[in-house]
Amino acid sequence: MAGRMDSPLILVDDKHVPLYRIVWVADLPHWCGDKDCEREGEYEIRLDVEESVWTSLRGRDDVLASLKKWCGDPEDDNDPLF
Ligand SMILES: [Zn+2]
Repeated sequence: MAGRMDSPLILVDDKHVPLYRIVWVADLPHWCGDKDCEREGEYEIRLDVEESVWTSLRGRDDVLASLKKWCGDPEDDNDPLF
């Protein structure tokens, strides 16, 4: 482990997640048909271990924006954050 470096962090729900731990971000809200499901309508942020965090549409969009900035979107289409 590299220890404490300048790892970019994103706040997902109530958790600060290092961007490098994110494997993928859901494009669509979760739906599994289980009427007791507590994640329906939330967006899954998959982490690099057998673990996920869950967030709203806005939270998901914040994660995507941070990831694009961090990864350096080659298309660089006028990011509104700048
Ligand atoms: Zn479900």
